[in-house]
Amino acid sequence: MVTLQEIWRALDEVVDPEIPVVSLVEMGIVREVQMDADGVTVSMTPTFAGCPALGMMRNEIVEKLRGLGIARVEVKTILNPPWSSDMIADSARAKLKTFGLAPPPRHGGDVQLFFPAEVACPYCGSTDTRVTNPFGPTLCRAIYFCRGCQQPFEKFKAL
Ligand SMILES: [Zn+2]
Repeated sequence: MVTLQEIWRALDEVVDPEIPVVSLVEMGIVREVQMDADGVTVSMTPTFAGCPALGMMRNEIVEKLRGLGIARVEVKTILNPPWSSDMIADSARAKLKTFGLAPPPRHGGDVQLFFPAEVACPYCGSTDTRVTNPFGPTLCRAIYFCRGCQQPFEKFKAL
């Protein structure tokens, strides 16, 4: 019999398809796991409602848990309450930095901080940076340019 702990451990091995250095659990995307007599139901909230990676994440969760011998795996999408960058675990924040993504500040529900005045460069730590493109490769990311080390970097928008 598989334990809830083993399920969470397995889910923690499923990485974010857009940021393969962090897991869906660390990103706060996997919300809840419920076990019943014949299977498991996983509730997840995508970082962005129209996230094209949603189907991919769903498949990976199902595949991973079937690998534990669970016959029925259901993945539910919860859009309310919406995902917030505050749900990113501290462990993931450090990894985002090594991936060249500046982690978003914790905003505690204050979403006015979409573009904070001071953004530290994840490479050199300089705050002499500016937004070059508010819409990065995905809607959750913005592209910045660091004047300190002359490198572009991406930042998670606080949302
Ligand atoms: Zn820099």
